[in-house]
Amino acid sequence: MSVLVYVENAEGKFKKSTFEVVSYAKAVAGLLNTDLIAISIGDVMQDELSILGKYGATKVLNVNSDKLKTFVIQAYASVIFEAARKEGSDVIVLANSFSGKGLAPRVAVKLQAGLVDSAVELPLIENNKLTVKKTAFSGKAFAFVELDSVNKVIALNPNSFELTETPGAVSIEDFQPEVKDSDLRITVTDVVRATDKIALPDAELVVSAGRGLKGPENWSMIEELAEALGAATACSKPVSDAGWRPHEEHVGQTGIAVSPNLYVAIGISGAIQHLAGVSSSKTIVVINKDPEAPFFKVADYGIVGDAFEVVPKLIESIKAYKSHH
Ligand code: FAD
Repeated sequence: MSVLVYVENAEGKFKKSTFEVVSYAKAVAGLLNTDLIAISIGDVMQDELSILGKYGATKVLNVNSDKLKTFVIQAYASVIFEAARKEGSDVIVLANSFSGKGLAPRVAVKLQAGLVDSAVELPLIENNKLTVKKTAFSGKAFAFVELDSVNKVIALNPNSFELTETPGAVSIEDFQPEVKDSDLRITVTDVVRATDKIALPDAELVVSAGRGLKGPENWSMIEELAEALGAATACSKPVSDAGWRPHEEHVGQTGIAVSPNLYVAIGISGAIQHLAGVSSSKTIVVINKDPEAPFFKVADYGIVGDAFEVVPKLIESIKAYKSHH
């Protein structure tokens, strides 16, 4: 018995969300009184792999094969399955990220495991059953799912578990499972970044704006505020529908779901479909000239005012603060 965590990398580096998943998996392993093993796939340097020891991994299986340089979902799922078999792991933890969302069900099928995605808390463990809290209905509700299968797969939502350092010795082992041609029917021929900006799904800080901004020509102040904060930019659906902003910035029920530490909503009414994608943000700041705007009901901080007056002042204050710190 052991817990296996899949550690996703971006161009050979682990992101904060990976360390969150390792911290979570270590806590699960602690509850089960067992070891945490990590599986890394792709070209990741030893120094980077050894950071996983800081968050509690005792062993890292390092799969570095030419065939697996880019993300091929069937092949990656097979490798995680082989790692689980090799280590006798019965609990597999992944991030509920773009790739984790596709991998988790595939790994669960291979292991005949029960699966919980969108997990947000540590499981309760009773008689070898794990009860896991997860978000449901686009973040409008929580569900508690009981896993009573022998093998269990948990996909953790980003930003839902604190980074926890539990340093210890970690061994790094090369692992070379056979990769079948049948798992390589898709070839990623090229990866082109859409933008140099911070990717919205991974962002810890998000500055988002809506129809209250009146037109695309007014977005420079939103970008300036985002830059001052080191945040990603987002928008409401009508804004991307109108072509004021690119579609990949649209958040909500029909767009991207985000759960950053800070979500600043400017000139957005707070319609239920918008809130569905942002309500699990840790801190929500709303700037709206209408005191009755529904967004204020879910705000941690609210500013009733005209965005064209408030935002420039906010940028000025942030810049002044940064120049003194
Ligand atoms: P509006 O509703 O027009 O609100 C603009 C806000 O700006 C108002 O509150 C106003 O008081 C404020 N304002 C105006 N001027 C200023 C100013 N100068 N300073 C400060 N505040 C100002 N929407 C999404 O966002 N994401 C989704 O995924 C999504 N999915 C949907 C799915 C379905 C099936 C449907 C039916 C709708 C969906 N919508 C979605 C649309 C949603 O219902 C709302 O229409 C939309 O979110 C409203 O966008 P908005 O808040 O930018 O614009």
